[in-house]
Amino acid sequence: MNKEPFQKTIDRLKSEGKYRVFNDILRERGGYPNAIWYGPYNIKNIVNWCSNDYLGMGQNKVVLDAMHTALDQTGAGAGGTRNIAGTSHYHVALEIELSKLHKKETALLYTSAYVANEWTLVALKQIIPDIVFLSDSANHASLIQGIRHSGADKIIWTHNDMEDLEDKLKNVSGTPCVVFESVYSMDGDVSPMLDICNLAEKYGAITYIDEVHAVGLYGEHGGGKLQELGLQDRVDIVNGTLGKAFGVQGGYIAGEAIVIDAIRSVASGFIFTTSTSPVICAGALASVKYVMDHNELREQHQLQASKLKRKLAHYNIEVHPDASTHIVPVMIGDPVRCKKLSDVLLEEHGIYCQPINYPTVAEGTERLRFAPTPLHTDAMISQLVDSLRKVLNEH
Ligand code: PLP
Repeated sequence: MNKEPFQKTIDRLKSEGKYRVFNDILRERGGYPNAIWYGPYNIKNIVNWCSNDYLGMGQNKVVLDAMHTALDQTGAGAGGTRNIAGTSHYHVALEIELSKLHKKETALLYTSAYVANEWTLVALKQIIPDIVFLSDSANHASLIQGIRHSGADKIIWTHNDMEDLEDKLKNVSGTPCVVFESVYSMDGDVSPMLDICNLAEKYGAITYIDEVHAVGLYGEHGGGKLQELGLQDRVDIVNGTLGKAFGVQGGYIAGEAIVIDAIRSVASGFIFTTSTSPVICAGALASVKYVMDHNELREQHQLQASKLKRKLAHYNIEVHPDASTHIVPVMIGDPVRCKKLSDVLLEEHGIYCQPINYPTVAEGTERLRFAPTPLHTDAMISQLVDSLRKVLNEH
């Protein structure tokens, strides 16, 4: 094989400061957010500040116990695709619990929320041949990929801009489907969900929402931003993950029974793959149940995020102006500096925060994206802000 195109790709990414480094870390069970970093020359204790295990559920005893029990009971893998021997009792129970979480008739598990987004959108085009996707310009890669892969007509509307969405809805020929997120994970901002639902209703559009960064975290029982706003019955299909606030792995959609039945009958990425291990499903099931019942986790999560934001504001450290959620993006605006700051924080201060550069965010808006959890103590927050002040001054 000619290696030149590979080398060129890597050289270009490195010269532009966009080369991704996959840090080798090991989380310490029971000690989250403490972890160990396996650096090039040494091993170092670090504090993880960029994990999406937003509530620390990946370490919660209830979840671990459920997984141990399932492992001992049923073994390692699912043993088949969902249709051929791979639907275990844990899959069924988890789908029921997720439908309750979202107050929908049915839920459907996928191996990840990425896969769920991609293949649900592809399936929708198969089921509704004249579907036209209207996609928010800040949508996640999995939504973009699903729309592209579906081959359907697509219209991009300006992020969170209701005038633009309405202009575009007016001119759709076909069945419109508005695709958007509740919490946008890179800016930490929120979409105007009520306005979007009203516009969708006015123009007879299907609504598809990605609540990946909101499930477990918002709403009285963790049903997401829609639950918080009392809008759970206003959206047709909800997408969520089991890998972030629920701390395990996997993704899903929830909606009306007939809709989900048709999707599961045609979505290739659901049908033709080994289903998620029952051990994972058992952990996710315990986590969803626990998180639904423990609102204080959500309160503590918001409290720590607001403490961090307040401290950063006190020292004039710039956070994205629209960040109104638990996500704290500190704006750097240069890919090379962003990477350098991340490296120094890790190597000299034991603070792990991966740099976020293009194409994840637009060029010139590079950032360090901090994700405080209920387990990040006040002392950790102080240490982070002190370190950040120092490295921002020095570099
Ligand atoms: N949707 C959004 C908005 C995301 O940020 C992510 C990120 O991981 C996904 C979907 C995919 O979720 P999962 O990690 O479960 O594949």
